[in-house]
Amino acid sequence: MLSFRLFQAGFCSHCQRMTLIDGEFKKHLYPALCALINHPKYGYILYDTGYSEQFFKQTRQFPFSLYNRITPVSLNQSLKLQLLQKGIEAQEINYIIISHFHSDHISGLKDFPNARFICHKDALLSIDRLSPIKALLKGFLPKLLPDDFYDRLIVLDEENSSLPKKLRPFKKGISLFDESLFAILLPGHAKGHIGIYFKAQQDIFLVGDSCWHSKSYQELILPSRITYLIHDNKKAYIDTLSKLNQLHHSNKQLFIIPSHCDSIASTHAEHL
Ligand SMILES: [Zn+2]
Repeated sequence: MLSFRLFQAGFCSHCQRMTLIDGEFKKHLYPALCALINHPKYGYILYDTGYSEQFFKQTRQFPFSLYNRITPVSLNQSLKLQLLQKGIEAQEINYIIISHFHSDHISGLKDFPNARFICHKDALLSIDRLSPIKALLKGFLPKLLPDDFYDRLIVLDEENSSLPKKLRPFKKGISLFDESLFAILLPGHAKGHIGIYFKAQQDIFLVGDSCWHSKSYQELILPSRITYLIHDNKKAYIDTLSKLNQLHHSNKQLFIIPSHCDSIASTHAEHL
């Protein structure tokens, strides 16, 4: 059986009203969650990496310095250092599944020298040959990718598998690692944005940036309209969130985890 641990690697801060339409006009902390999965055959697999020291290195100079000004970032310890404290060396990470290429999800890619990277084809196309300004507008810092990134890459394409019925209304996914884990396209936030479903201590569905808070999928609460400026597709975003809301109400055993939910971070994430 797979085992699973949730980590928080840094956080950023901005106004809560932006991410919850009934939220407060107050500064709120947004943790960067990432997951460690231990597979009996394939070893250690990460879903995203959160922030790392690389983020600060890459945002020192203009125009990328604007990123850290708009959403100030704090980091106590990177995921690499947190894992080391748990007795797991960076070299032991075999795979990193990338939900999408926003910098708060990929800042630690350079920290794991043996990992192969798994992402969706559409996510990859969305970062192809961007000018620095266009990259910044997409929340992407090109130098966060290791030099040999493309040599270590596994690209997902067709949704080739039927998902278990308990995941309805989600029907199709991409099976990974002997069908023990499924990548599921969650359109709207970014092109090729993927979540993953797997069975560990309990059924887990990591949904990346499909929403910012658990409350959003539980009660179908949308973000502020201004946030659609950063989402790829408003209609698809609302559709994905509506599906997560349906799924939550039809399968209460499933633990749905958005990447920046502060209440899940405070109850379930390990962080130092
Ligand atoms: Zn994002």
